[in-house]
Amino acid sequence: MADCLFCKIIARDIPASNVYEDDRILAFNDINPQAPTHVLVVTKRHISSLNDLSPEDDQIVGELVRRAAAIAKERGISTNGFRTVFNTNRDGGQTVPHIHLHLLGGRGMHWPPG
Ligand code: 5GP
Ligand code: ZN
Repeated sequence: MADCLFCKIIARDIPASNVYEDDRILAFNDINPQAPTHVLVVTKRHISSLNDLSPEDDQIVGELVRRAAAIAKERGISTNGFRTVFNTNRDGGQTVPHIHLHLLGGRGMHWPPG
């Protein structure tokens, strides 16, 4: 999508610190990290939010989640634990309308979230 920040990162129009890529997924470090590990795992195809998923997207959502877990394992944070978050729309705190799974770890997380 032309005017989407994460589509521009996927197209290499905007630089990012990439940590994983395949033909369907890109993962890159968040520009404003909230934890020692803060990676965004995104679909290469533009999907605005969880509200826009269809049954055909079940596979790609599973891939996002499994990729986040794999990156956590690579970083050595899977045993201590980590947090994965999809923010959705205004009340969910979503600021970039292109589906992304936050992977946060390397420190203790709080609950409930703010
Ligand atoms: P959201 O608030 O939509 O759940 O998450 C968007 C995330 O994208 C935020 O954590 C924010 O720091 C990150 N972000 C915003 N702009 C950029 C950018 O240009 N590059 C990277 N790597 N991350 C960004
Ligand atoms: Zn997009």
